[in-house]
Amino acid sequence: MNDETKGRAVVILSGGLDSATCLGIADSLGYGVDALTFDYGQRHRREIDSANALAEHYNVRNHRVVPLDFLHVIGGSALTEADWSVPREGVNAQAIPSTYVPGRNLLFLALAASYAEVIGAHAIFIGVNALDYSGYPDCRPEFIDAVSRVFQVGTKMGVEGVAPRLETPLLSLTKAQIIQWGTSLGVPYELTTSCYEGGAVACGVCDSCRLRLYGFAEAGLTDPIPYQLSHSDL
Ligand SMILES: [Zn+2]
Repeated sequence: MNDETKGRAVVILSGGLDSATCLGIADSLGYGVDALTFDYGQRHRREIDSANALAEHYNVRNHRVVPLDFLHVIGGSALTEADWSVPREGVNAQAIPSTYVPGRNLLFLALAASYAEVIGAHAIFIGVNALDYSGYPDCRPEFIDAVSRVFQVGTKMGVEGVAPRLETPLLSLTKAQIIQWGTSLGVPYELTTSCYEGGAVACGVCDSCRLRLYGFAEAGLTDPIPYQLSHSDL
């Protein structure tokens, strides 16, 4: 943990590569970090184990795992519907993928703002990325700008002129750029989980695995996690 020269920040920590990088960035900037992980019935539940390991690695002040069971009840996503298969058709598809979880980031950010107000944090970090997930409406700059405005008008801190800042350092980066930045900060990617299937070993063929593997390859680095299928099979 750092010396908190920047005050406190809330990092939304899924346990994936992007949120781990966000945690590394917030830590490197000198924030005292609290981490929030949301358990919404996602099929890749290993993420939560990864989030726990990352929070421990960074010795965050508090790590809260927040149950959001109702997202699983609502369903409507390949990540929460047990009988939907996760996509493998390619990461460049233009349509909104079936892994989009309706309302997920809106809920996450609302709860992060609540928590930020309670602990007096002036920054909220979320690892959204508009390039690699261009089909997700809640990963776009327009959405982030709109939520930032809501923080200004809809929170006590905002009315008092110190609304929590929404920090999205990965918003316009490629996966390779994210990995290069995180590697330079010493982010322990071996602790992260990205596979949509959620097995003990990453499948290597779902869209999330493919995007991650392409990112490491483009960055000229080796992904430290094991895969069921070797890189040369892709
Ligand atoms: Zn996978």
